Amino acid sequence: MRSLLPATVLLASLATPGYPADKKNDPNQIGNRDVGRGINFYSLEKEMALGRQLAQEVARQARLVEDPLITEYINRIGQNLVRNSDARVPFTFTVIEAEAANAFALPGGFVFVQTGLIKMADEEAELAGALAHEIAHVAARHMTRQATKSQIASLATIPLSVILGGWTGMAARQAAGVAIPTAFLSFSRHDEAEADFLGLQYLYAAGYDPTAPVSLFEKLESLEKKKPGTLAKVFSTHPPDGVRLEKVQQEIDRYLPTRPEYVVNTSAYNEVRARLFARQARREAEEKDGRPRLRTAPGAGDAAGSPESGDKSSPDDRPTIRRREWVE
Ligand SMILES: [Zn+2]
Repeated sequence: MRSLLPATVLLASLATPGYPADKKNDPNQIGNRDVGRGINFYSLEKEMALGRQLAQEVARQARLVEDPLITEYINRIGQNLVRNSDARVPFTFTVIEAEAANAFALPGGFVFVQTGLIKMADEEAELAGALAHEIAHVAARHMTRQATKSQIASLATIPLSVILGGWTGMAARQAAGVAIPTAFLSFSRHDEAEADFLGLQYLYAAGYDPTAPVSLFEKLESLEKKKPGTLAKVFSTHPPDGVRLEKVQQEIDRYLPTRPEYVVNTSAYNEVRARLFARQARREAEEKDGRPRLRTAPGAGDAAGSPESGDKSSPDDRPTIRRREWVE
C-alpha cells in the first residue's frame, strides 16, 4: 500500500542528520539495538528469499573462485565480523574473479568479494573493513528500506557486468546477465555514512585496527591521482570521497575508545593474496603462450599447498599486532 505513505513523509523521516539513538554510537551495544528499524515493506524472511534468488543468479553468471584455501579464509573472517555485528540473518561470502576493487552485498546476507579488492588491500584489517561495511548495509536493511522508498525500484536495474567493472568477471559472455535492482546497490549518502560508522564498530569489536578503512580509502585516492578514472571503477557501489574519509576519522576519535593493540594482518591473509597473484601470473603467462587454459577441478587445490592446508593455522600463525600511538 505505497500510496498511503507519501514520499514527503518518508523523506522527512530520513532527514535527521547524525545518529540520534545513543545505542548506535556505542560498540558495547552491538546486537542489542535494532539498527534495521524503519519503514520496510519486506519482512526479514521475504528479504532473505529475495537475496537468495539474486545471489544464485550472480553465482551462476559470475566467475567464482573455488580454491578452498581462499574461500574458507574469506568465510572465516567474514563470519567473525558477522558475530560482532547487529545482523540478524545468516551470511554467505562468495569470492568472484573480477579486477575492480569492490565488494557488494545483496539483501538478506549474501556478500560478494571481488578478487581485485583482495589484491588492493595489503592487510587483513583493510579487507575486513570493506566486509564490515557490507555487513552493516545488510544489518541496517538499507537495500529493502531503499526499495520501500523508491517508486522505481522494480524498474531500474544495474547489470552484473557493470557491478563487476566489466566483462572479465563474467563466466558466460553470451548470457544476458543478471541485473540487480538499483535500489539494492546504490545507496543514499545517509545510508553510506551509516554503513561506514556501523562497519567501523564491527571492525573494532572484532579486534581489528579501526583506522584500516582510512588507509584503504587513501590508497584509492592516491591511485586516482596517478590514474584518473580509477575511482569510477573501483568501489563502484560505494564511491569514497574526502568527506567520507574525514567523517570516518572523526567517528573513530570520538566513539571508539583506544585499545593498546589491534590486529592488522595475518599470515593466512598473506598466503591468500600470494595465491591470487600467482594465479594471475600463471594466467597471463598462459595467454602469452597461446596455450589453452587448463581448468582446475574444484577442490583439487591450486599450485602450492593441499586443499586442506587452508583451514589449519600453523602454530606460528599469530596475527600482526599494531600498537597505536594516537596523534592528530
Ligand atoms: Zn556502501
